[in-house]
Amino acid sequence: MKQYGFGVDVGGTTIKMGLFEMSGQLLEKWEIPTRTEEHGKYILDDIAKQVENKLSEKNISKEEVAGIGVGVPGPVKEDGTVIKCVNLGWGIFNVTEALSEKTGLPVKAGNDANVAALGEMWQGSGKGSQDVLLVTIGTGVGGGIVIGGKMVAGSNGAAGEIGHILVDSKEKEYCTCGKRGCLEQFASATGIVRMAKKALAEQEWKTPLREVENLTAKDIFEAAKQGDAFGENQVEQLGEILGTAIANIACVINPEVIVIGGGVSKAGSILIRVLNKYFMEKSYHASQNARIVLAKLGNDAGIYGCIRMLIE
Ligand code: ZN
Repeated sequence: MKQYGFGVDVGGTTIKMGLFEMSGQLLEKWEIPTRTEEHGKYILDDIAKQVENKLSEKNISKEEVAGIGVGVPGPVKEDGTVIKCVNLGWGIFNVTEALSEKTGLPVKAGNDANVAALGEMWQGSGKGSQDVLLVTIGTGVGGGIVIGGKMVAGSNGAAGEIGHILVDSKEKEYCTCGKRGCLEQFASATGIVRMAKKALAEQEWKTPLREVENLTAKDIFEAAKQGDAFGENQVEQLGEILGTAIANIACVINPEVIVIGGGVSKAGSILIRVLNKYFMEKSYHASQNARIVLAKLGNDAGIYGCIRMLIE
């Protein structure tokens, strides 16, 4: 077996890179800025250069390298074709072929959230399980699905986009995707604040949160932890919307572990508790075996998943 592999998680502002032993040991990680100018045409060259430099620095030959796994922020088909990565300026092209040509190494590519799900399954909170749903709650709501140990990409690379499940068909405001009533509009960090501001404007809550300038999701969770009735109410509402969505997803994929990651997951046990409550209330009896847990690998989930892709 080849001993080494590279994990590359391409984000809109930084590219996270990791040199791994194929057993799953992270040897070294570092970051470089993402150069998005000129439709992101320098991104793959930058990655190839980093790989070459690291190999010569560590005195590792290409024969010892299993390949490069790449996670990108957009839909990726099974063959490595990227449909559109708005954040990178990329149009349609095959990232696997292009990077392989530049480096002479085997390359596998996947959507960043799906790859992160694979990472959590392999070395994170889903370790030991083959059926994992990852829900990332940050600025948006993302997701990744692993079934039978395999990442699910879907026909157009868009599987796992759970943030755009319709949860309220009467919603008037638009989601970033152009639809109205998406889960992301209610359950992302931005969505949580949007809902709280709406409730404060429409209802007569007495809460210190009313005086907070630039209200954040963190403020709302903190207030709930301190027993503020409004904060508690908002967290309950989030739990009901997100818990119900997860229960619906579980009807379709029956995961063993549901991993909650992203910035909002820093709220911790209060979030897990409320999700569990509504998940148990809303889910189908035979899918209630699922455990809801916090993510373990944080921002490194992607680079771990990239290595796991190479093993398949
Ligand atoms: Zn949407």
